[in-house]
Amino acid sequence: MNDPKKKKWLTITIIAFIAMVIINQLVVLPFVSASGQAKETTYDFMLRELEKKNITHVEINGEKIYFKLKESKPDKDAKLLDTLLAAQNNNVYVTTAMTDLALVERLYQSGAEFTQVNQKQMSPIVSMLLSYGCFILIYLVLMRVMMKKMGGGGSVMSFGKSNARIVANDKVDIRFTDVAGQEEAKENLKEIVDFLHDPKKYEQMGAVLPKGALLVGPPGTGKTLIAKAVAGEAHVPFFSISGSEFVEMFVGMGAAKVRDLFKQAKEKAPCIIFIDEIDAVGKKRDTAGIGGNDEREQTLNQLLSEMDGFDGSKGVILLAATNRPETLDPALLRPGRFDRRVPMELPDQKGREAVLRVHAKKVKMADTVDLVAIARSTPGASGADLANLINESALQAVRAGHDKVQQEDIEASVDVVLAGQQRKSTVISPREKQVIAYHEVGHALTAALQDESAPVHKITIIPRTSGALGFTMQLDEEERFLHTKPELTARLVTLCGGRAAEMLVFGKATTGAANDIEQATRMARAMVTRYGMSDSFGMVALEANANRYLGGDGELTCSGTTAARIDDEVIALVQDAFQQASKIIAEHWSALTRIADQLIRQENMSGEEFKKLLDEELETKRLAAQEAAGEGKENEVSE
Ligand code: ADP
Ligand code: ZN
Repeated sequence: MNDPKKKKWLTITIIAFIAMVIINQLVVLPFVSASGQAKETTYDFMLRELEKKNITHVEINGEKIYFKLKESKPDKDAKLLDTLLAAQNNNVYVTTAMTDLALVERLYQSGAEFTQVNQKQMSPIVSMLLSYGCFILIYLVLMRVMMKKMGGGGSVMSFGKSNARIVANDKVDIRFTDVAGQEEAKENLKEIVDFLHDPKKYEQMGAVLPKGALLVGPPGTGKTLIAKAVAGEAHVPFFSISGSEFVEMFVGMGAAKVRDLFKQAKEKAPCIIFIDEIDAVGKKRDTAGIGGNDEREQTLNQLLSEMDGFDGSKGVILLAATNRPETLDPALLRPGRFDRRVPMELPDQKGREAVLRVHAKKVKMADTVDLVAIARSTPGASGADLANLINESALQAVRAGHDKVQQEDIEASVDVVLAGQQRKSTVISPREKQVIAYHEVGHALTAALQDESAPVHKITIIPRTSGALGFTMQLDEEERFLHTKPELTARLVTLCGGRAAEMLVFGKATTGAANDIEQATRMARAMVTRYGMSDSFGMVALEANANRYLGGDGELTCSGTTAARIDDEVIALVQDAFQQASKIIAEHWSALTRIADQLIRQENMSGEEFKKLLDEELETKRLAAQEAAGEGKENEVSE
């Protein structure tokens, strides 16, 4: 929560408190009996005061009579102390009623106001609850009024029942063309747009579209933007709410909010509901059961049941965004819920150029500006960073007195915008980029040059959501459940390929291989202790995996000496793999440098591109070898 918000809460609280005190005086105290401070007195005292017409209010409650005297004028007969006491007790007295039929008549004559309350005397607890009830009521009313004030304006409306800003936008003017790059995501979401255009078509086919899609990616990659674009393209209303807003509220409010949200959406269907930061509500529920956040769980359960409850053909589509998909409760990802995942990664160089172009249209830009160069100099920047960069450079242009944005304005802004970003997101130096590229190509080469290895699907040196600086993805043609020993060995070699390439090219180890090392070690250990793949142990289970379901590590079921031997085996396996990887890479040095160069330039490389480059290199190598062999033969012949 930011500061102004906090201030607002404080104001509401203070106002509500003051209002409560006032209301307490005005409403609660006139229930004379409720004050609980009535002074016991005698019946004849009351009658005498009545005679003097000093009584203003009387309340007959069962056999008690409460009465209130006028502000006591100093009575010369009364002792000072009595007067003071009377004043302090609000002049309220209580006496026991007599069977006095004439009382009503006398009260009437005296002009006192009187009522009969046929209840037990209100207990102090009830009166306390009453005043706190007032407090909470005032609080809620005030809050609603203030929220309304904030949410108002334009086509945006806030719903009465919702204190969280459920923002409904009937007309969204954002289109897919406003989202630069992210072609894969757009392709993914086009089907949803098509469905919203013409749900009948799908219904007739008997096809059920997923109810929800999860947009996964780091902040600023355009998740909100693309969700809006889906609504814009489909010409349907757009509801948005942030997950954190569900949780900030009072107990029980989150679930109500979810219900409210879905109710509103169903009325407006077809429409898009967008939940930003869904991880705030959708975090894994505590398995331990204690210390869990009940409010959040209730909200999550409500969300799940609403998702199950609505019929997809009605055309309510849920889009949610997160940058931490691994923290989500698995229940959210089950079929029929957010079963479609749309990755939104940081843009590569081409993507950055595209984002710059989209935003450059919004400002006056000189024709001489070279956006390609800008894109090249901003690796790691997100779409939002780049949008910000263009805006900053427009400001810079004004400051510099230019009539259009010049290259120098943008270049000056790069530092301003990205220096601020450096701590937040990963902006990588050219030198690091080089190391990362060679590392990844090392993985890719070792993967591609071993028979038992899955083909390379994609290489990237754009930092991932997971924190990895680069990534080489292999994809098996089909899902595999059995793995052979040569396959696992090949995988080990591939895992070593990154560090091996770094060592060969730069001669220095970096921390970039930490994850590889962890994976390789775990794999080698499993080969020895669980899969019976080491020659010296054979088919002996050396590990009892007691806690597999909870992902716990196995426990060794062997003596200390055996444990030491296991360690030796594991080390030997990994070392062999490293040797093997180094050999492969050294033999294909020119392929390594050529592909790495290309990767540094374009940051993303598809499996096909990689294969094409590698095949060319292998062909050159083969021809060279043939020539060498041919020359050798010729020499032999000539001799
Ligand atoms: P996220 O929801 O992923 O955090 P947003 O959608 O809020 O990111 O992006 C913030 C802003 O950054 C957008 O309003 C837009 O101006 C800019 N932006 C981000 N990604 C893109 C993109 N791919 N194309 C164009 N603009 C983008
Ligand atoms: Zn690696």
